[in-house]
Amino acid sequence: MTPTDLARFIAKCRFDPGTGCVIWTGGQTSGRGHSSPYGAFWFAGRRWFAHRWAAQFIHGLDIDGAQVDHCCPPGRTGYGFAPPNTLCVHHVRPLSPAANRQKQTLDQRRYWIYCQVGLEEPPPIWANNFTEIPFYPEPEWMKQ
Ligand SMILES: [Zn+2]
Repeated sequence: MTPTDLARFIAKCRFDPGTGCVIWTGGQTSGRGHSSPYGAFWFAGRRWFAHRWAAQFIHGLDIDGAQVDHCCPPGRTGYGFAPPNTLCVHHVRPLSPAANRQKQTLDQRRYWIYCQVGLEEPPPIWANNFTEIPFYPEPEWMKQ
């Protein structure tokens, strides 16, 4: 991975200060069996899922043989949780195939409930009762 590759990648990303997500704005693909859109990034002669490329080359995660899961903070509607954004290339984490079989929405629901009972630190949007868009700082890796 060269600085040129990273610059090329970042050029296709948009940072959302409301969620802290970095959303892929380049080409998209729907993988086999997936209905959600995933970013597609051309690198070293083949097409990568953008979130997998980010997990390996930006976040330095070991994703060999692992699914890459999205772990975006709970949604901002206040009426429930929004599912993670599959186009986000910032909130990613490797997941074992076994763990991936459990619906990731379950994790989100658990996180949401833990926030309500004080076991998890709530995301910034909770601080103002969902009336204002919180400000997340731009991740360091986007500052080129
Ligand atoms: Zn995200």
